[in-house]
Amino acid sequence: MRRIAVMGMSNETMLASPGHIDLSTSLFWRGEEIFGEELFLMRGVLQRLREEPDVEIVPIMLVRCRATPVFSRAQFDEVKGEILERLAAAGPLDGVVAANHGAMEVEDGESTADTELMTDVRRIVGTDVPITVGLDLHGHVTPGYLNQVDGFAVYRTAPHRDDGETGYRAADHLMRIMAGAKPRHAAVHIPLFLPGETAMTIYPPADELYAMLSDYDAMDGVVEANLFIGFAWNDLPWAGMHALVTTDGDVDLARKLAQDIAAKVWARRSEFGLQMPSYEVEEGLRKAMEMQPPVLLSDSGDNVTAGAFGDLTLVLQQALDMPELEDIVIVNIVAPGLVDQARQAGAGAMIEVDIGAEHLSRPATHRKTEAEVLATGAELNPPGVFRGSSAPWAVLKIGHVTASFHHSRLSINSPQLLEAMGIDSAAHRLYVYKVGYLHPKLEDLGFGHVLLLSDGTSNLDLTKLDYHRIVRPAYPFDPDMTWSPEQGLYDDGRG
Ligand SMILES: [Zn+2]
Repeated sequence: MRRIAVMGMSNETMLASPGHIDLSTSLFWRGEEIFGEELFLMRGVLQRLREEPDVEIVPIMLVRCRATPVFSRAQFDEVKGEILERLAAAGPLDGVVAANHGAMEVEDGESTADTELMTDVRRIVGTDVPITVGLDLHGHVTPGYLNQVDGFAVYRTAPHRDDGETGYRAADHLMRIMAGAKPRHAAVHIPLFLPGETAMTIYPPADELYAMLSDYDAMDGVVEANLFIGFAWNDLPWAGMHALVTTDGDVDLARKLAQDIAAKVWARRSEFGLQMPSYEVEEGLRKAMEMQPPVLLSDSGDNVTAGAFGDLTLVLQQALDMPELEDIVIVNIVAPGLVDQARQAGAGAMIEVDIGAEHLSRPATHRKTEAEVLATGAELNPPGVFRGSSAPWAVLKIGHVTASFHHSRLSINSPQLLEAMGIDSAAHRLYVYKVGYLHPKLEDLGFGHVLLLSDGTSNLDLTKLDYHRIVRPAYPFDPDMTWSPEQGLYDDGRG
């Protein structure tokens, strides 16, 4: 039997989000728990490995932190340490498949936390055991990552609908290596900064650039060609886009093709942009009123699904100034003091609230107003929703606005979480979620959508944010710059 370890640690870190990650909202599957649920990338990994009659799957540990503030060093060492301990205790292994993300960061990291994790995994399993990894296209690949990992599979859709297929390919690459393939990788770091909302794979030019990848895959000697949009909000030297090509044994071919892909992306840099209706906050709220209800609105500057904190009430305060909106639901605001106050008062009570006093990621604002407590709860964890949270919450009615407040950060990007708080997810006129583009569960509702260009750490206008550590020149900050792919080229360094 060939013994293949499966593991993973996935997080998309928003460095500017205040504080550190709250690990109580992360999801952990230890050992055989990995087999118990249909887990994103991992379900494809398991599917592929189960096709092999002589493979024993050795489940290590899977950690899913979603998008969050950064790991402290102590937090990262604790979680990584448990994975490594379990890996060391697993006995002799013939291969490792990891389901990661690529944009995980630790506060004092000299490289991505993904790179650090896989460097340590390599140290434990030794140089002869092949390691492959599945990643999100919003991640990054560093020179160290290329050096430590033998095979990469990367999402090709945003919004993400191909996690299973990506995991399948990651495991398939491992099988090919065990059958004798000799992977060589090269990548190009492209100095192009794109919020995910401007590079959705259902719109040009990203749709065409991603469709092109399968032509590269089909070339002689190519294992897989990939393109990372990256995570543009982080002020880090490795932020930006990456083209990555893995070949069987031919590093020169990998170098050539990675530059080729990077050149095609660079040539179209000015074509990326928001393709959905997008407006400043006040105008967007007005436009939504002209549309067939219900309408979903994205508070894109405080996008919790990108790691923003969710504390901002800027859209709520604008909505309170617009009684003509008549009926609007605004969910997912982090305000622990307000939640405690509402829970103490209880459902049905009228309370005096101070909206905006608990801002952390932007200056506090104070707006005292009356609110009715509609409902409260100690936790929000409906069955079948991975993004639940054990944190207390409260739903308040403030004039024409119904708003949900939460004790800690959580991602609300599915209608079930609204229903679990007693909010009808389709009967109201307008719904504001703290998201950017609509995630599949919201997109599939088929409602109208307006993106609000709100302020916050996930501001979609990157030129409004402060950068000091990214490689300059870079687009769009230095719009007149010239660049050629060889400037960003590196390979796996395996000689
Ligand atoms: Zn992503």
